[in-house]
Amino acid sequence: MSRTRNNRPAPYDPPRCWVGNKNKVCYPDQETAEMSARLVEAEHGLAANSLTCYRCEYGNHWHLANSSPKNRR
Ligand SMILES: [Zn+2]
Repeated sequence: MSRTRNNRPAPYDPPRCWVGNKNKVCYPDQETAEMSARLVEAEHGLAANSLTCYRCEYGNHWHLANSSPKNRR
């Protein structure tokens, strides 16, 4: 069992915004959001690509969402 190294940069407090009744982390662009999606998947032991990113309808930034088959758009 190999240990994954924690290579992330220093923690920071990301901006968030309210989407419905959820306080979601905002990512400045798609690239960052996708990168974070892969990190969160790894951290939580989720299947690859189980998270997806989408552009926020309230601002010029991106959020992560579960891409479960039930919720397909
Ligand atoms: Zn937003």
